[in-house]
Amino acid sequence: MILRDNLETFCRTFLHLDTVPDPWCKNGLQVPGKSEINKIALGTTASKNFLEMAADWKADAVLVHHGLFWGNGVKKLTPELTKRLQILLQNNISLFGYHLPLDAHPEIGNNAQIAKKLGLQKIEMVDICAVGDLPQPVDFQEFMSTCEQIFAQPVNFGEPFLQKKVSRIGICSGGGSDYAEQCKAAGADTFIVGELSEHRYHDFSEMPINFLACGHHATERFGIQALGDILINEYANIEVSYFTEPCPI
Ligand SMILES: [Zn+2]
Repeated sequence: MILRDNLETFCRTFLHLDTVPDPWCKNGLQVPGKSEINKIALGTTASKNFLEMAADWKADAVLVHHGLFWGNGVKKLTPELTKRLQILLQNNISLFGYHLPLDAHPEIGNNAQIAKKLGLQKIEMVDICAVGDLPQPVDFQEFMSTCEQIFAQPVNFGEPFLQKKVSRIGICSGGGSDYAEQCKAAGADTFIVGELSEHRYHDFSEMPINFLACGHHATERFGIQALGDILINEYANIEVSYFTEPCPI
């Protein structure tokens, strides 16, 4: 069992919440539920589907990458947000959200985890991105197939703009396409991102840098699961389970 407030303190310290700036998200405990936590449901996004699965499983708390409160906070309760909150409040479930700190963490962050799964060497963190070298250069198509295996879905878009073998990879999960320049400056010839906006396609073509858009949701599944593994090691007698929700974006 973990006390809710102890879990919040542990995650705040472990994920360096006080030193990783996040202009987008209120990280930490977003909805306080019961004070004693035995079952933690992990998810990428606090969607209605995910919250229903967590409630059916009798979760005491949910930990997600995409919480419910963003930017300057809630101005009104939309029907969608109301439904999601109803599930939490009716079941007395706490909701914890960890956004950029869970992308940026050098050990369990989404980007560091993807780098490990790709077998990159000499991994370094560049801002919130992970950058590292493949053991040996490979053709773009071969690298794309590797990504499809890791993310368990087709790559949404990919272009070998640099016209040479893939060797050094920069990674920024989710909607992190603005970080491509920093990865290129760190020597990356290829950039993995989650989702891409139209103008960045042209930017990448003109830089140039190879890129693969592997799915926002798909690139942000690993960090929260790795955080769950840390919690299982840290606390006895808790149950932790990740709930998968299909999302092609
Ligand atoms: Zn995201």
